[in-house]
Amino acid sequence: MTKVIAINAGSSSLKFKLFEIDSEKVLAEGIFDRIGLEMSKIKIEYQTNKKFEVDEKVKDHAYAVKRLLGLLLDLKIIRDFSEIEGVGHRVVAGGEVFKHSVEITSKVIRKINSLAEYAPIHNPANLMGIKAFKKVLPFATAVAVFDTSFHQTMPKENFIFSVPYEWYQEYGVRRYGAHGTSHRYVAKVAASMLDRPLEKLKLISCHLGAGASICAIKNGLSFDTSMGFTPLTGITMATRSGDTDVAMLSFMMQKLDMHSMPEAIYDLNKRSGLLGISGVSSDMRDILAKRETNLRAKLAIDVFVKDIVKYIGAYTAEMGGVDGIIFTAGIGENSTEIRSKILNRLAYMGIEVDEKKNALRGQNLLISTDNSKVQVLVIPTDEELMIARDVNKIMKKKLKH
Ligand code: AMP
Repeated sequence: MTKVIAINAGSSSLKFKLFEIDSEKVLAEGIFDRIGLEMSKIKIEYQTNKKFEVDEKVKDHAYAVKRLLGLLLDLKIIRDFSEIEGVGHRVVAGGEVFKHSVEITSKVIRKINSLAEYAPIHNPANLMGIKAFKKVLPFATAVAVFDTSFHQTMPKENFIFSVPYEWYQEYGVRRYGAHGTSHRYVAKVAASMLDRPLEKLKLISCHLGAGASICAIKNGLSFDTSMGFTPLTGITMATRSGDTDVAMLSFMMQKLDMHSMPEAIYDLNKRSGLLGISGVSSDMRDILAKRETNLRAKLAIDVFVKDIVKYIGAYTAEMGGVDGIIFTAGIGENSTEIRSKILNRLAYMGIEVDEKKNALRGQNLLISTDNSKVQVLVIPTDEELMIARDVNKIMKKKLKH
């Protein structure tokens, strides 16, 4: 029974999911949170309904990995480290270098490091996870799975910004996108639910979580996506502004006596979006709860919905049509109300929603009626499974050689 572990290392956290890869069964999943702080939190769920939770100091990622593997043994989830034959690491920025998932070698590590200027917080954190696992499981196949690589198929007109061309040539400034692993996963599931080849479908995937992005997927390939050079662009998000007029920043820097660009960008990343408009919360559930009594909460919802409607319209036009629209991530998977608000405004496309099915959640659902001109699907995302599948593919390729 081959086991593969998918790792998502953040600056102060390490999330994991351990799979028995042939059956794709989840053996354990969990998180080490607040790494490096006074007190960290460890949570592990395993064997369907067992839970392990403890607060203790976890000084760094290297210790977190050692502790994690120790716990997997102690909790009898594995009997020996050698059972874990593959480790998949989520890496945020792959630039134009990484167009696919790759086995991690020292050359790959150097390249991920050199791409850190595109993701100064995330790539170094991802590397900490990679190095820590390499030490403890030196013989496992380690694979890097990039958030950006799915979008490397975008045509140039869709990834180039209308800025001096040398900015792209000399500094790599372009649209890289994000959430690639999620968009890739849900597109694949959608094709199998619709029983049609992915290579013949035009899909629009709406990943609506705290971070949110829309992706046009034409013939199985990313064709356009709403996040840009960084995850700041596109639709309104929990705390990010999405598309806005950057010239406004110099105006506001004067007004608020801000002295540096990063200070101003901080406000666009952390104090804007649903939080900025509503003043209530960055969490959609809190905002929905206040929508009838608080006009700014209602406005935040209206802007969020409008942004998504706008992108779906734009991407339908860019692709010359659309066969299916997919909703995923926290809001996309769970909010019947937000989905309804969006889909009601798309009735002009011949979309018809089965409201009974739209009221369900927590599973793969086709929520459009038989008469609908465009199929609408709700698909819980599973980036970790996609990562583990990529690891498995590379392990099998190695076996053949
Ligand atoms: P994620 O980043 O994918 O975990 O998504 C987080 C977002 O999903 C937050 O804005 C949550 O409020 C939202 N969310 C989760 N459950 C629901 C729900 N039942 N209704 C509306 N929003 C939800």
